[in-house]
Amino acid sequence: VQTEFDLIVVGGGPAGYIGAIKAAQLGARVALVEGDRVGGTCLNRGCIPTKALMESARLSAQRSRFASLGLQTGETHFHLDAAIARKDKIVGDLVRGLEKTLGSYAIEIIPGTGKVLAPGKVGVGEQILTAPRILLATGSTVAVPPIPGIKTAGVVTSDEILDLKTLPGRLAIIGGGVIGVEMAGIFAALGSAVHVYEALPRVLPMTDPEAANAMTRALSHQGVQMSAGVAITGIEGEPGAMRLRMGDAVAEADLILVATGRRPRIDAADPLTDLKRTRSAIITNDHMQTSIPSIAAAGDIVADRPMLAHVAFHEAETAVENLLGHTRRMDYRAVPQCVFGLVDLAQVGQTEEEARQAGHTVKVGRFPMAANGRAMTLGETAGFVKVVSEERYGAVLGVHMVGPHASELLGEATMAVQMEATVHDLAEMMHMHPTISEAIGEAALDLLGGALHLPRSRKGTPTR
Ligand SMILES: Cc1cc2nc3c(=O)[nH]c(=O)nc-3n(C[C@H](O)[C@H](O)[C@H](O)COP(=O)(O)OP(=O)(O)OC[C@H]3O[C@@H](n4cnc5c(N)ncnc54)[C@H](O)[C@@H]3O)c2cc1C
Repeated sequence: VQTEFDLIVVGGGPAGYIGAIKAAQLGARVALVEGDRVGGTCLNRGCIPTKALMESARLSAQRSRFASLGLQTGETHFHLDAAIARKDKIVGDLVRGLEKTLGSYAIEIIPGTGKVLAPGKVGVGEQILTAPRILLATGSTVAVPPIPGIKTAGVVTSDEILDLKTLPGRLAIIGGGVIGVEMAGIFAALGSAVHVYEALPRVLPMTDPEAANAMTRALSHQGVQMSAGVAITGIEGEPGAMRLRMGDAVAEADLILVATGRRPRIDAADPLTDLKRTRSAIITNDHMQTSIPSIAAAGDIVADRPMLAHVAFHEAETAVENLLGHTRRMDYRAVPQCVFGLVDLAQVGQTEEEARQAGHTVKVGRFPMAANGRAMTLGETAGFVKVVSEERYGAVLGVHMVGPHASELLGEATMAVQMEATVHDLAEMMHMHPTISEAIGEAALDLLGGALHLPRSRKGTPTR
């Protein structure tokens, strides 16, 4: 059995598998150590399974519109087991495809839990692997807050909720971040009565406040209740009869989902006592190097960076290129971020507030989906596009959107921020008609003084 490699990757999630593939493309002999299934959180318990269930939810929610679309069908029923089987099939196909891709690059998948014993040395059970370079990509796991009673049978995390056997009648969600809000949208559309409890003053605290409001309104239309500024102080009961305590107040639910965040898994690096870390994550520079030059890190284990699959991909590529003698830096200015739902929230770059704090004189343009022809034909007119720019050159600093398939529109916005495009570029670019993407051009025109598919703006006539 081969035990000497050019690079050992510990963890086979998005950071690990992309790091392994990139390194093999650059000619390295690579070992990929994975304790569970390749694909990590993203493929097995995150991005992909949630979006597979979201599709059942999206179509289910359309049922109420059938009559207005001229469709008459018999009674339809939702079968959770079938939706979960479909989700499992998609996940299985993707994992097998990934294994095949890794195999095609002759990447050695080593099953087991890896520990970095010293620079250049990884232990997997009894086996010792050696390589001059190591990529740490061990990702993250669910963080469960220390609420009294939280470790009871009626409380699940994002891992278990993806494999439920029955749909909860009443679902309480602790945490109004991305995962909590996405799950709320899914389960409400499938028929659960959902209540989200967020301790901070508003849900989706890391998003543009107007966008968060629009998303909250869309979820309210779905029947989701949201309580912000509420701390859960205790949990009791059994599945089907759970109680959440908020000081003296009590709420009831059949099932509780705890979605309060994720914790990096850095135990593989425990033996490296001089590896610089925060209390819970690994510190790297923008080349993804750790404080030990031959060890890089990428993905959710990296301190103070967004925990997103595409961030993990890019960090892994960057890490591996630098480990193998090339030079590449991470650029976090244009990180696309989404909250998926019946309508999506999608954002890239700075919010108005962040742009002001960065010292810019900020200009903002908006365009409502209600005035977009394609959104009307889809019957999805909730939301808007908002473009944030600085006054001097008109550089696009951020784009914030809520609307149907807004996650798919984000590519254009990300390119604008990444390439330092101006609002003039966005306004002058020809957008296909009728598409939702026209709303981006119109929001840029609004910023310049006049969207063309809205009544005359109070901002005056366009500057050009
Ligand atoms: C419910 C949910 C929905 C999400 N939706 C999205 C989304 O829509 N878009 C998005 O961009 N992100 C989403 N994310 C986040 C995304 O899944 C993560 O950012 C991404 O998976 C991080 O990749 P990673 O490789 O750093 O870590 P992980 O995916 O966590 O992979 C780490 C891997 O390392 C393995 N491992 C850990 N320790 C060891 C060890 N000692 N030895 C061997 N193997 C080890 C683990 O088994 C795991 O397979 C979601 C997350 C969740 C939970």
